[in-house]
Order: sequence, then C-alpha cells, then structure tokens
Amino acid sequence: MVDQNDIVLPIIGLEIHVELDTQTKMFCRCRNRFGDPPNTNVCPVCIGMPGVLPVMNRRAVELSMKVGMALGCQVASVTKWDRKSYWYPDLPKNYQISQYDLPLSSNGLLEVPLADGATKAVRILRAHLEEDAGKNVHDLPSGTGVDLNRAGVPLLEIVSQPDMNSVEEAAAYARTMQRLVRWLGASLANMQMGHMRFEPNINLHITRGGKVHKTPIVEVKNLNSFRSLEGAVAWEIRRQYAAWQEDPEGFTIERQGKQNRGYDDATGQTVFQRGKEEAHDYRYFPDPDLVSVQPDQAWLQAIADSIGELPLARRQRYIDQYRLTFKEADALTQDAPTGDLLDAAVAAGADPKRCVNLMLSRGSAIANERGCSIAQIGLSPAPLAELAIMLHSGQVNATAAAKIFDLMLDGRQTPAAIAAEQGLLAVTEAGEVEAWVDAAIAANPQAAGDVREGGKKAKKAFGFLTGQVMQASRGAANPQQVQEILTRKLG
Ligand SMILES: [Zn+2]
Repeated sequence: MVDQNDIVLPIIGLEIHVELDTQTKMFCRCRNRFGDPPNTNVCPVCIGMPGVLPVMNRRAVELSMKVGMALGCQVASVTKWDRKSYWYPDLPKNYQISQYDLPLSSNGLLEVPLADGATKAVRILRAHLEEDAGKNVHDLPSGTGVDLNRAGVPLLEIVSQPDMNSVEEAAAYARTMQRLVRWLGASLANMQMGHMRFEPNINLHITRGGKVHKTPIVEVKNLNSFRSLEGAVAWEIRRQYAAWQEDPEGFTIERQGKQNRGYDDATGQTVFQRGKEEAHDYRYFPDPDLVSVQPDQAWLQAIADSIGELPLARRQRYIDQYRLTFKEADALTQDAPTGDLLDAAVAAGADPKRCVNLMLSRGSAIANERGCSIAQIGLSPAPLAELAIMLHSGQVNATAAAKIFDLMLDGRQTPAAIAAEQGLLAVTEAGEVEAWVDAAIAANPQAAGDVREGGKKAKKAFGFLTGQVMQASRGAANPQQVQEILTRKLG
C-alpha cells in the first residue's frame, strides 16, 4: 500500500547488451550466426586454448563507433582491451576480453519519445565493446550442455545513467535503442535470437517527513524481452517499497548496498541471486595479446559520414514533408531500408500517401507473415511508384492494386503488365460503364426510385446501386465514374 505521505521516485539505469551484426566473431574468423548446430562455430581462439592469439574484428570496432557517434558520445582517441576474469561454464578461458577504464565511447545522450508526446533525455555513461560468452543449454535429455557458438561474438554494452523514473520510460528507452541499432545496421536486435539483452538497475528514493530514504540498488540480470524488462522493473518498484515500509531503517542502500537478482517470467517476480560483484572481484588487467585501438581522423570521419539521417529526424520529416500521421511515419521508420524505399518511390513521382497505403496494407501484412521488415519482402521503388500512380489515376482500383502488389513482388513483371495480363485494369470506357449502370437501374426499380425521391433512403439506395454496378463489372469499373453516371441518370 502506498502511504499518501510518501513520495516514491524510482531511479532506473539500464545496461543494454547488443550483439553486433558481423560476419565473424570479435577476435577470430569463426562465423557469427544464430541457430547453427551447437559448437560448430568454434576454434581454439574463441574457446581460449593455450598459445592462441586473438585478432581484432575491424568491422565490429567500426559498428561500435557508429553507434557511439549516433548517441552523441565522445569516441576515445585511445582505447585498450582488458581481461575480465571470472569462472563460469560458458566461458572456458576463464576471462572475457572487455574494456575497463578506457571504453570506446562515453558521455552521450539518447532522446526518448514517450507515449504522451513528451521526450525524455537519457544520458549515456559509456558504450564499450566486448566478446559474448557461450550459452548453457538446460533442456537436453542428458542434462545440461554448453554451446560455445556464441562465445566470442562481438557485444556492445551500452550503459545509461540512472535517468529513468518509471517502467514506461525504461521500456521506451530500450525500444528507442533497438530502433537506433537496427537503423545503423549495427545489429539485427532480434530479441528471440538473444541479439539484445537488458540489465536494469533499480532503486527507490522515498521522501517521508522531509527526509529522503534510498533503498538498496538491485541489478536484474539477463532479461531478453521487453515484457521481462517491464515486468522486472515493475516488480522491483513494488517489492522495494513494501520491504522499505516494513523496515525503513534497515532496508537502505547504506546498510545493504547492491545485489543481483534474476527474473522469473512465469511468476513475474525477481529472485535473489547474489551480492553484486564490484570491479575488484573481476581482477581486470590489460590484455597483453591485443594492441590498443587508436582511430585516426580519416577513419572517424568516414564513419561519421556513413550515419546520415537518424530515425526520429526522419519520422518528423515524414510528418512535415509527406503529411503522414504519426502512426504511419512511425511504422515507416522502424528500419532505414523501409524508409529509403518510400523516399525512392516518391522520388520516382508517386504520391507519398498512396505509397504508404500500399506499404502499410498488403506490405506490412506480408512482412508480418514472414517475420521481416517491409523492405525485405521484395518490393522495389520503381514498381511501387508505378502501382501508386496507377491507383491514383484510377487505372486500377484498390482491390486490383492489392492483387497486383502481391504479384509484382517477385520482380518479373511490371504492375502495368500484370494488370493487363490479369484483366485488372479498371474499365473507364464510358459506354460500357453506362450499360452496367442502366442494367442496375432497370433491375432495381425500388432503389432507383428511392434515389430519385431523395428522401431518407436515398443515400443507402445509392450505395446499393453502386455496389450492384461494381459487382456486374467484377470490380473493373472505376467507382468514382460509376457514381458520376448514377448521379447524372438519377439526379
Ligand atoms: Zn573462433
């Protein structure tokens, strides 16, 4: 129960681990690919056999710098590699190559749009590069096994300042970050494939009687869905407040410090794991096998130039320039290639709204079925523009356009060729349409009479007659033209 006299302010920071979308691992040439048979993408380097030497993946360093720059971070002129020592079954060499005191990027900012239209600025403390660990597999018939395919995959750890104050803000920050790393091509950021994982830090600042009480900080480890993130943060806020109410003097950060907890998706509760490790527990020391990274100006400039328009800026441009609704603009800026497709179709002469309607109706339905983005369903700018123009000029109607849309995805025929071959072109031959209209009037004297009288039933009768003509033409008539002729004959 919330005591009306208490002011409870959640203080939330978030570590986000992002697996980078590289061909190979961080320090060896093993494939970086999800879903391969266990332990098929491993070599002496990534499982830490004695005498091996790691070699840095240039692409991973570039992608990390790109994310850092897009977050407005300073990119370090010198950064080095450190060994973080711990013993765990999914880390056979007993240390992880990471970055300790000289992270690649630091001191940035992410502007996070919230549902109510406000924006929350979340400061980025640092973003450093490291290698992922392997994975324990617990559901084998023989017991637990270790899959080391993931060991050595490049991992960017982005650490925020504790600037978020609610479940909604934490979730919005995580979603904004997902969109950004996808946009930059840095990561597929697919939650089901573990490309992106969250570790929130949560405590409460409770003001009672003019005094601020701080609860112990809890870090919830390894959350791999937005739902778990939201659930864990919400649970911790409730749990910590209840625990503090029972023991206001003892349940404090001064007395209890920090701890790690896990989250149980089934119960929606967090469970105690262990007291939180401090840096000295890891016995960090510089990795003697790797040289420091010192990006020169030309390299940094080339990466900066590759960033281009960021997603939120593009969303605003779509609203201003293309007159899209927020929802439409938002849907088209989930990833850069989808937005690029729209821009290219508009550049080819199509009306933006028509393109967006096509992309968000059939396009997004197909993308959903296939679990991919709209840009990945096989749509090219030229045919998309052509179809939008045909629709706009009334050469095809919406039903025909949906059919053409599906058939043009394989790229073998243009929309015009498909429309001609499938008989989907709208019939605009006035004589032919007029004949259908005459037939509909003759067959439905009651409805025609209602329209002529212009009473209460006129509107419904008019719609009915239009439908009859469309049916007679098997959808080939242009509805606007049908209505014009009907109005002329019955007006
Ligand atoms: Zn390897």
